[in-house]
Amino acid sequence: MRFTEFNFHPDLLEGIQSSNYEIATPVQEQVIPPILAGKDIIASAQTGTGKTAAFLLPIIHRLLQNESTGNVRALIIVPTRELAIQIAQHLEGLTYFTSISSLAVYGGSDANNFVGEKKALQMGADIIICTPGRFIAHLNMGYVSIKGLQFLVLDEADRMLDMGFQDEINRIITQLPAKRQTLLFSATMPPKIRSLAKQILVHPVEVNIAISRPPEKILQRAFVVYESQKLPLTKYLLTKTSYKNALIFCSRKQNVKVLARMLKQNGFNAEEMHSDLVQSQRENVLNTFTSGRVPILVATDILSRGIDIDTIDLVINYDVPRDGEDYVHRIGRTARAEAEGMAFTLVGEKEQNSFAAIESLIDKEVEKAVLPHFLGAGPDWHPRKKSTTPKSKKKFYKPRRGQR
Ligand code: AMP
Repeated sequence: MRFTEFNFHPDLLEGIQSSNYEIATPVQEQVIPPILAGKDIIASAQTGTGKTAAFLLPIIHRLLQNESTGNVRALIIVPTRELAIQIAQHLEGLTYFTSISSLAVYGGSDANNFVGEKKALQMGADIIICTPGRFIAHLNMGYVSIKGLQFLVLDEADRMLDMGFQDEINRIITQLPAKRQTLLFSATMPPKIRSLAKQILVHPVEVNIAISRPPEKILQRAFVVYESQKLPLTKYLLTKTSYKNALIFCSRKQNVKVLARMLKQNGFNAEEMHSDLVQSQRENVLNTFTSGRVPILVATDILSRGIDIDTIDLVINYDVPRDGEDYVHRIGRTARAEAEGMAFTLVGEKEQNSFAAIESLIDKEVEKAVLPHFLGAGPDWHPRKKSTTPKSKKKFYKPRRGQR
């Protein structure tokens, strides 16, 4: 379906065209009409499916039907600052030719930020994108006018509950007008999301796009290694693979720091991203990465969701992620929109069971790649928890020793 068929406001259509969107993605096709019709939504959709525009476009269109009131008319709650910034940028592009104002409220470590946000909130904005803790802090001060709120969006709701934001979300919701349209997006639908949905949605339309599987166009490979082989293998992969931007994930920030340092010492142009950096440092690092000045970024799962950089074509999981959803999100950082990408996972000896569980979740046996000769043999692949893939395919699991 083409965007011209939705009867969007002409100023919005201009923003859509200048964002180079022509055809709606499946989630957009399913979600936009009921939102335009005023329905509540519960949608399971991963990042990479176009879910952000799926809720932004109909909200912008509906807001354009009425004059701006100077008060908050739509509130989008997200789990992380990075996602808030990204949605704000997305929104800026789509509303460029309109009078809609928006503001991202995600905090930062210094008091100046709070004061700046306070001033902006007092001036008012049509759409606010916020992280829960920070917004509740402002809300408690009494200067945020949300009486005229029409839309509430909870994005990546499963992630927010995993991060312990349930209380904050509840506290925000109790202060919102009961008569509003609520849209809930979540990559997964565990029971706690269902019960949240029951509390806050009214006769929602259910849309199910997400499957916990990475897009087929991502080439996935796993390397079964000893811990000591991870660094030389990473250097080898970064040297032998051709890529524009490589994102390397480690599960702990300590590992991020060590790996980034080792790579730099070995002549690689790499930066690091983790929660010890203050907001301005994070933004600088992201800028150098997205602009291509630094092609390699080593990061914690802080970057596994939401971040949308078109040029990432290589993801390396230096550590196996803790759960399958994180794996899907991490490797989903590559092959955004039309691009293709590669995702390599280094599976240490103690990580084999976790990786087999991930294979079960994504219902795919990831091909175990042969190690480069200079590394010598790695351990055998023998996870306790077998993946669910039929036995006939198991031969891929175990490269013969001589071949590694
Ligand atoms: P999201 O799932 O919202 O993170 O979006 C993933 C990427 O797809 C972003 O780079 C969007 O700008 C892009 N995108 C969203 N909708 C469309 C569309 N209809 N056509 C082309 N690209 C899109």
